[in-house]
Amino acid sequence: MAGSRFAYVKNFELPDRLLPGTFLVLRVDGHSFHRFSTEHGFSKPNDERALCLMDHAARDVMDEFKDIVLGFGESDEFSFVFRKSTSLYNRRHAKILSTVTSLFTSSYLFRWSTHFPETPLRYPPSFDGRIVLYPSEKEVQDYFAWRQADTHANNLYNTAFWALVQRGNQTTTEAHASLRGTMASQKHELLFSRFGINYNDLPSRYRKGSVLLREEDEASASLPGDDTSNVEQDQEHPCQGIHNANVAAPDEAPRETVPQISKQGDAKRDRKTRVSPTIVKVLHCDIIRADFWLARPDLLS
Ligand code: ATP
Ligand code: ATP
Ligand code: MG
Ligand code: MG
Ligand code: MG
Ligand code: MG
Ligand code: MG
Repeated sequence: MAGSRFAYVKNFELPDRLLPGTFLVLRVDGHSFHRFSTEHGFSKPNDERALCLMDHAARDVMDEFKDIVLGFGESDEFSFVFRKSTSLYNRRHAKILSTVTSLFTSSYLFRWSTHFPETPLRYPPSFDGRIVLYPSEKEVQDYFAWRQADTHANNLYNTAFWALVQRGNQTTTEAHASLRGTMASQKHELLFSRFGINYNDLPSRYRKGSVLLREEDEASASLPGDDTSNVEQDQEHPCQGIHNANVAAPDEAPRETVPQISKQGDAKRDRKTRVSPTIVKVLHCDIIRADFWLARPDLLS
């Protein structure tokens, strides 16, 4: 086929290699999830099942793409940062973006019935995706701080908005009008004085989003049956179905078993290079303050 007279069309494809030595931040976002969430009966302002499903899809992505060192999710979006030396697909932009976005989407569908056992899908959801390159750790840290600050602002607004609608008997138009121009402190005050809601008591998952990172799997050394100790979940709102589903294989494990003629010394080399198994953990912690990064000095290196 390569030698056919048609093969010249291949030359119209342009190289799209991403700048070497830079951090790749890939963000997926649900397409028209305002509608999707309404049509699938998401509870407002925060549907726990939907957030857990997003986390689950993100875990699947991180189990597949080992060069992702950190993920952050809120609402219908997830961001992933790849280590800056990644050579995934030769750093081809379209290949990386389309494959990761596609895997996230198919995993969202694959895991749907685990988190929404009673809710049939009415139509197939989709996600958009983009990659932004950042030159240093500072911009990457600020990027994640930006997304978490967005989580805070949106969640405070949405919590106040839905309190006015669901408990204050306002229409959605009235609720928007009530909140127009208000400062964060006024929304806190409104929630507390009118609805008895102390915003800071809401689950950390809602206020801080989900932080996914790799940690050594201590549980691989623990007793069989001790099955939830390895995943740090929000205890108030544990996610159904993702507790044990995603213990990652050792980093260097081949995806497919290709028959190979064994050579002397292989076993020894395997033992030497084998890294301990890692597991993708879900945290709902602050990533705006420096502490998160100071506690993990090697995360982005
Ligand atoms: P676009 O296609 O431009 O992204 P969108 O409708 O998806 O449009 P977003 O700004 O991405 O708009 O907002 C996502 C919307 O999805 C939220 O405003 C909210 O209505 C809904 N949503 C997402 N996740 C949840 C959830 N866990 N619980 C309740 N609603 C949710
Ligand atoms: P890449 O990720 O680079 O695309 P690939 O393994 O998908 O790698 P392709 O060049 O896209 O490689 O080829 C797709 C392969 O999938 C085919 O070579 C064939 O082995 C298999 N395949 C796809 N469709 C069918 C089919 N309908 N029946 C049998 N095999 C198929
Ligand atoms: Mg959007
Ligand atoms: Mg969206
Ligand atoms: Mg969004
Ligand atoms: Mg093909
Ligand atoms: Mg293919």
